[in-house]
Amino acid sequence: MSEFDLIRRFFTRATPGAVLGVGDDAALLQVSPGNVLAVSTDMLVCGTHFFPDADPFLLGHKTLAVNLSDLAAMGAVPRWATLAIAIPSEEEAWLERFSAGFFALAQQHGVDLVGGDTTRGPLNLCVTIFGEVPAQQALRRDGAKAGDDIWVSGELGDAALALAHLLGRIKLGEAELAACAARLHQPHPRVALGLALRGIASSAIDVSDGLLADLGHILERSNVGAEIEFDALPVSPWLRGRFQQKLALCGGDDYELCFTAPAARRAEVKRIAAQLGLPLTRIGEIVAGRGCIVHDTHGHPIDIEVEGYDHFR
Ligand code: ADP
Ligand code: MG
Repeated sequence: MSEFDLIRRFFTRATPGAVLGVGDDAALLQVSPGNVLAVSTDMLVCGTHFFPDADPFLLGHKTLAVNLSDLAAMGAVPRWATLAIAIPSEEEAWLERFSAGFFALAQQHGVDLVGGDTTRGPLNLCVTIFGEVPAQQALRRDGAKAGDDIWVSGELGDAALALAHLLGRIKLGEAELAACAARLHQPHPRVALGLALRGIASSAIDVSDGLLADLGHILERSNVGAEIEFDALPVSPWLRGRFQQKLALCGGDDYELCFTAPAARRAEVKRIAAQLGLPLTRIGEIVAGRGCIVHDTHGHPIDIEVEGYDHFR
């Protein structure tokens, strides 16, 4: 199979949302009036982000999902993506499943794959995603104000719990593993939440490197501090008690949104949670100053070493 046959067969689909899609030297894209482009890139490297024997369908899903999550955190509507892929050999069955997983999620979100690059090499998957948002409504990291509530969607720590099992550090029961593994392998990017939070959230970020690390980026960019109630953190029944502190605060791969909003918008946030059928939990408050304090049940500060995932540490 030639490179061009491969691209045609596995990575070329209709692109109704593009002026011109795959097959020319560049794609042509038209942003809707009143919007600006929101662009983000995320790369998944074999051995670093996934195991060499990872299920290709789920890998296709996750490759796009982690990128959609970044647009969700900006409050942007996802529109287009490009895919740069290095593969060791043209294994057709693998490519079939990978592209099926990728396009299944792309279709759910109305995203057109409009281009990319295909080369031979160690397995490496890199998506650039393009979305649109009115510039003034983008959910940025620098808008948190003292007195704002801090919220988080869904539940934290399950993906990290599954990873700990797969790395042989802990042993989960079969049912627990199934539930957690889905969170690790098939994250659901919170795109609808990001859109609903336009005009309500004062800042937002997606939780990919652990809550404290990612909230830390909001605090730094907004020049504020935070106080978190440990008991308020949303965790699944199987995480409760066990490794809860480390995984809920510092585990990675959650792909939930952490956002801040004025206390006056609390009722609206709760209405959004009901509309989306997605739990939104108030976990603390933005305060003047710097840094993040986590309080235990008795109101005492918990001593935590913040270690979000950092490839270079
Ligand atoms: P060029 O040599 O001009 O960079 P390529 O030969 O790399 O073009 O790619 C041919 C066409 O196929 C381009 O439109 C490119 O965007 C698209 N393409 C290449 N790889 C992929 C891929 N993995 N997924 C989607 N489109 C791809
Ligand atoms: Mg090229």
